[in-house]
Amino acid sequence: MSDSASLTDLDKRYLWHPFTQAATHAPPLLAVSAKGSRVTDADGKDYLDMVSSWWVNLHGHGHPAIAQAIATQAGQMEQVIFAEFTHQPAITLAARIAELLPGDLERVFYSDDGSTAVEVALKMALQYWRNQGEARTAFIGFDGGYHGDTVGAMSVGQTSGYFAMWQDMMFPARIAPFPYTWDGDPNVESKEAKALFELGALLECGHVAAVIIEPLVQGASGMRMCRPDFLQKVEKMVRASGALLILDEVMTGFGRAGSLFACQKAGIVPDFICLSKGLTGGFLPMAMTVTRPFIYDAFLGQDISRAFLHGHSYTANPLGCAAGLASLDLLLSPDCAQARARLEATHRHWLDRLAAQGLAERTRLHGTVAAFDVPNPTSLPDGVIGSRLKREFRTRGLIIRPLGKVIYLLPPYCVTEDELAYAWGQIEEVLKTL
Ligand SMILES: *Cc1c(COP(=O)(O)O)cnc(C)c1O
Repeated sequence: MSDSASLTDLDKRYLWHPFTQAATHAPPLLAVSAKGSRVTDADGKDYLDMVSSWWVNLHGHGHPAIAQAIATQAGQMEQVIFAEFTHQPAITLAARIAELLPGDLERVFYSDDGSTAVEVALKMALQYWRNQGEARTAFIGFDGGYHGDTVGAMSVGQTSGYFAMWQDMMFPARIAPFPYTWDGDPNVESKEAKALFELGALLECGHVAAVIIEPLVQGASGMRMCRPDFLQKVEKMVRASGALLILDEVMTGFGRAGSLFACQKAGIVPDFICLSKGLTGGFLPMAMTVTRPFIYDAFLGQDISRAFLHGHSYTANPLGCAAGLASLDLLLSPDCAQARARLEATHRHWLDRLAAQGLAERTRLHGTVAAFDVPNPTSLPDGVIGSRLKREFRTRGLIIRPLGKVIYLLPPYCVTEDELAYAWGQIEEVLKTL
């Protein structure tokens, strides 16, 4: 007990937590162990991790198969410079992911996190055109898109609501509307038509290197969803303009949005796909940017300056690759597919049940990601409602982090029916007291 008190003091003294106003935020919980959907704190209290620890965890905390794969790899080779060496875990993981991805997405560039996966795609797209001798230097993103915290990722995600503070360091990007929609939305067709019209106009301004989009679900800006149809139309327009298409599947990848990758649900093949969060099952930070042979080929030549002179110290870290391989085995098992289907059906049931009682607005669902808006008849700012709800959920043993007035659940695939029913039941109870 005194141990944990002194640790909390040291945290307060030495640590700076992400996305947190330390002056007003409740102190962080001291986590000591985690298993499945549960995280246990120093007081022995269990919390259900309904956000998969920032969307990274797929198969639950502490999965023994992934833990074992990392331990075995650590005993053999922990890290090696990837500009000089290659190794079996990196090769096998790349080959297996390439097999799973649609079309000829098969050339894998490893990096460290979602932001770098996006940064790599942007830089590759820009250099691809440079290497071709074509003056294409502009990027198009979508309103509300979030692609990470590095400067390039911020620039194409400048309307996600997080970056006003750093406007001065971003490069200009063109932003198209995003036809954010929900169950029974009567205006979805007109929103899509408007978005496509404006996208067309932005493409016609010319010089577009690439268009970047989070397919099906915009995560950080509030689990804002669109229809697969819309993505098909975007792909057609981007193709017709000659620009490259980047899909940021950092969150939607690895079964999150229903299909293994969101692009498959939409039946589209991008020129770049960015993968990270679920890649190692939530055990280690790692990412990959996967592209097509014609892009890779444009970087070949006798001149070093044609090459992609970019890389990170821990590129293709063998421990991360070993975790990725073990996570993939679990993901591709029939049990996991069934679990994800059950999860989606349970989400559907509760979204409808809350909506029927007037406790939820704009219900929306893609695969294992369920979200809705909390009806807000008061004049309280959304952020205030969100943090009140978060605090209330915490006391009930739930890690749920509303984005403004949006409540979403994105649990590990191993979540049990009982755990999920508890989470949704508590949400219902809390909303009734609002
Ligand atoms: C989280 C996220 C990122 C950034 O990933 P980090 O690992 O936080 O750098 C990029 N794109 C999307 C869609 C994300 O959800």
